[in-house]
Amino acid sequence: MKLYIFGSCSGTEPVENRHHTAFAVELNGRIYWFDAGENCSYTAHLMGVDLLSVSDVFISHPHMDHVGGLGNLLWNIRKLSTMTKVLPRYGDITLYMPNEDTFEGIMTILKATEGGYKTDYQTLFRRISDGVLLDGDIRVTALHNRHLGQEEGPWQSFSFLIEAESKRIVYSGDVKDLDDIAPFLENGCDLLLMETGHHDPVTVCGRLKGGNVGRICFLHHGRRILSDCEGMLCACRKIFDDVHICNDGDVFDL
Ligand SMILES: [Zn+2]
Repeated sequence: MKLYIFGSCSGTEPVENRHHTAFAVELNGRIYWFDAGENCSYTAHLMGVDLLSVSDVFISHPHMDHVGGLGNLLWNIRKLSTMTKVLPRYGDITLYMPNEDTFEGIMTILKATEGGYKTDYQTLFRRISDGVLLDGDIRVTALHNRHLGQEEGPWQSFSFLIEAESKRIVYSGDVKDLDDIAPFLENGCDLLLMETGHHDPVTVCGRLKGGNVGRICFLHHGRRILSDCEGMLCACRKIFDDVHICNDGDVFDL
């Protein structure tokens, strides 16, 4: 199983060498995509990731730093399929999203582009709610969080638990605080992909120290961590052994 980081930044203004949040898990050749910030499919393609192997796309919430590259991802899949005369390898593409308006908006844009986004496969919308979204080689479970300050559903912002090959990966999405993902963390995880856009990494490490999180990979970086990545990493490693600050283009073997 591989983890690819396509975009490591939060919703900042453009930052050199970083784009908004997106990553993917590859298992047995199949690509499971998480969030789709600007430029994600461009970066993935140039990293050698086969966009025709994308089967499922999970969007944590509808903010631009998580959906800005979704239209281009779908467009690029169609482009590669048209060029090579190869259909997406796993059939229809399913978009798991909290918000149908965003899906419809992106499809409206695509249908007005060249070729009218006509495809021999379907691009399907599935609304995210709490619970298991996908249960195959990989299992993906959604849990709503308080990032958008909602008091009640339908929830628009989610965190994800990704389980495969006996490993547990938690992706925070954007969260109000660590309590939002406590139900995922209480059974431990091998890897926590934790956003720093709204959180101090050193505080996060302090909270999780001595617990049952194996490794923390920070992403969705905010200004604080970007101002001094090296210094922040040093400070984090004094508290928590296995910490990494993700960069665009990182690849991890899990
Ligand atoms: Zn964000």
